[in-house]
Amino acid sequence: MRISIPARYARWLPAVVVGAVVVLSGSRLITLSVRERAAEMRTAAQAVVRQHAQRIATELQALAVRTRAEAQRAALILRDGNRPAHWPVPPRGIFWMSAAGTVVSAAEADDRVSGALASDWAASDPAWHASAGFFGPVRYGSEWYVAAQLPSEPGPQRPGAPEVRVVGYEGLSALLIRAHFGRLVNEGYDFELSQPEPRGAGQRPLFGSQAGNLPGAVTIGIATPADLAAGSGPDYLQLAIRPRGGWYPAQLLATDIGVLALLTWIFAFGTHDLTQSVGRARTALAATRRRLHAVHERLAAEIEQHRDLQQNLEHVRFHDLFTGLPNRRYFLDQLDRALRDMRARRRRRVAIVLVDIDRLKLINDTLGPTAGDELMVQVAQRFETVLHDSEFLLARWGGDQLALLAYDVDSGAAAQAIADQLQGARQEPFALRQHRVRIALRVGFTCIDSGLQRAEEAAREADVALSVARRNPGALSVAYTPGMGGAAVSLVSLEADLHIALARNEFRLLFQPIVDLRARRVVGAEALLRWRHPVEGLLGPEKFLALAEEARIIVPVTRWVIQRACRLAAEWHRRLPAGADFYISVNLSGSALRDPGLPEFVARVMQEMGTSARHLKFELTEGGLIADVAAAHDVLAAFHRMGIELMLDDFGTGYSSLSYLQLFPFDYVKIDRPLVSRARSERASGAIAAAVLQMASSLGLRAIAEVVETQETAQALLGMGCEFGQGYFFSAPVEAEEALRLLRNYESPPAAVPTVRVAAAEPNVEDTAIDDSQTQVLTAELEAGEPQSDESTQVLELKTGGGGVKLP
Ligand code: C2E
Ligand code: CA
Ligand code: CA
Repeated sequence: MRISIPARYARWLPAVVVGAVVVLSGSRLITLSVRERAAEMRTAAQAVVRQHAQRIATELQALAVRTRAEAQRAALILRDGNRPAHWPVPPRGIFWMSAAGTVVSAAEADDRVSGALASDWAASDPAWHASAGFFGPVRYGSEWYVAAQLPSEPGPQRPGAPEVRVVGYEGLSALLIRAHFGRLVNEGYDFELSQPEPRGAGQRPLFGSQAGNLPGAVTIGIATPADLAAGSGPDYLQLAIRPRGGWYPAQLLATDIGVLALLTWIFAFGTHDLTQSVGRARTALAATRRRLHAVHERLAAEIEQHRDLQQNLEHVRFHDLFTGLPNRRYFLDQLDRALRDMRARRRRRVAIVLVDIDRLKLINDTLGPTAGDELMVQVAQRFETVLHDSEFLLARWGGDQLALLAYDVDSGAAAQAIADQLQGARQEPFALRQHRVRIALRVGFTCIDSGLQRAEEAAREADVALSVARRNPGALSVAYTPGMGGAAVSLVSLEADLHIALARNEFRLLFQPIVDLRARRVVGAEALLRWRHPVEGLLGPEKFLALAEEARIIVPVTRWVIQRACRLAAEWHRRLPAGADFYISVNLSGSALRDPGLPEFVARVMQEMGTSARHLKFELTEGGLIADVAAAHDVLAAFHRMGIELMLDDFGTGYSSLSYLQLFPFDYVKIDRPLVSRARSERASGAIAAAVLQMASSLGLRAIAEVVETQETAQALLGMGCEFGQGYFFSAPVEAEEALRLLRNYESPPAAVPTVRVAAAEPNVEDTAIDDSQTQVLTAELEAGEPQSDESTQVLELKTGGGGVKLP
């Protein structure tokens, strides 16, 4: 059977158990101590009783001696056998008596006592009368008397002589006083003096400190002196003593029990307290453990999240966001590795093939800005199919270029064969957004036999071959030859033109509005550079910026842009209503940052033009910062001190990690196409965008989404907490005057037809490199399926449509 105890009593259980143990062992201890103490006292009492018995025996001995002396005197007197005429009078305490027990002579004072003693003797057992011996004690009045009796000595010498007996006696109380009996009482004992009855018939009490007998007393017999012993009968007297408080004093016992109770109490409550605090500690421990567990779970989740993010970012680092293909960085990494393998003779020859898709930009502009990316994915898939049985790497090299790294190519002829295979793959038209698009490819390639070159040098060979192919209408695929230096002629002439472009005032700026997604208004504009080339027409930055950097004229160009932006900002400030806030953001390339006088220049221009720092911001790409981190940091810190805010441009396409951002005092981050990624799932691109936005906000950065092309994108971004947007959906880059108008009329209603956003919104269409003949070529190449013919025409017509700011 199980005994169940209610919970509120259960906590007392340990205390009760401890209490019981203390009580049991305590009482056991007390018992033992009682016994030991009693044994000690008994031993002491035995010594005491022996001592007192000895004293009494000594007194009895003295009485015997006195009596014997008198008996000898009597023998002398009765020597002649005659009865004397006058019996001599014995000393006090002695008398003479006849053999029949009649007093013959006694001291006067002893008369009556003598008579009583003599008659008691006469009444006693006659067997004893012959010899000497003690008798009594005899009670007379209130006193007991002990007595010794002797025949006169030596006995009568002559027959007929009278027989006389001498009796010595003494009162028991006097005898005891002499034996210092009172000390017993002082020593704390009760006592009883008694006489054993003959033949063991009990005790005759004579004298005691208490009425009644003493149970458990220590007793001792007191025999008569040996020469007067009355045969072998019982002892003459018996003394019994016992401590007055008993063998174990109640007071001591009470103290012990009290101490035991106190100890029990202390232990029981101590245990109770201890179990309580142990219980509390255990509860606290459990709570702490639970908290720790929760923290641990959270940490694990965060680590997991972080790992996911890291993987996503890692993917972003090495892949083109729009096609999902490996990017140029990844390609160069792999090329570098292949070259190392060649040096180590683990590989033989590799071929680098660069492919330019003709007029991809035109397809973008006509079929929609991401159409080019879609087409590139299809081209890449075709390439992969035709090359399926060789080892290769395909990557996106640039806006409209693919790069192929073919491993273990046997010869230059084999490389040429690959180029031909690629050309063959493009023959079939591509199905793109309900159109059939035919494309042309330009291919430049090179074979690398020794691993001694750097990856960039090797790739540059293919690049030179490609530029030859581009310029030579007769050769679609060109192999690199060492004598191809002259192929860069055209670039060189462009570079020469660039040097005088500033002087000829051929640069101009367009402005693309930046919109506050929630407040639905234009908050600023990005200044975008254009070069109106006398022969090539209007060139976008991608055509000349890299060249300007190489030719080291980026510094004066940048200074020109800043000056122009500052002048315009001051002018807009004057022309806009008081209190209207706006900014112009200016792109700064990495090499412009190496201009140590730049901050000073900016300060001077701002002062000259009367431009406020809050109307100017700078945009920088990660790539521009990596080149010289220290220099970039100093220049950016100087701008920040001047109150000019900084934006990290093109985030999401760059190489470095976000932690890099924290090195520089950025206020904004511009995220390039946050929601565009056809290669991966839509959900994944949303997750990456959300993660990037969240990270930016956690770093205290405001986010601007770039290349917003549809209303859905704008709305999704708003939902993810992105503050600002920029892109064709709101407005293409426009002339300064138009930008100012948009800043004023920021309350434009949402566009009815959000698809109206083709590149034609850029002004001066007639200036662009896409001339009419090209447009016609494209139209011809768009092999429209039956129902789509109208739509393709419509697309081209829309090129003349006007621009306006649309809001999500
Ligand atoms: P960016 O700073 O990322 O500028 C945005 C580019 O995206 C511009 O191209 C703009 O026309 C284009 N864009 C804007 N909205 C959309 C859209 O919705 N869809 C599409 N597909 N594109 C859109 P742009 O003007 O050709 O400029 C190219 C790059 O040249 C700029 O990229 C910037 O890095 C650089 N750049 C432009 N102006 C300057 C400048 O004055 N100095 C320096 N150093 N670099 C400049
Ligand atoms: Ca920019
Ligand atoms: Ca950008």
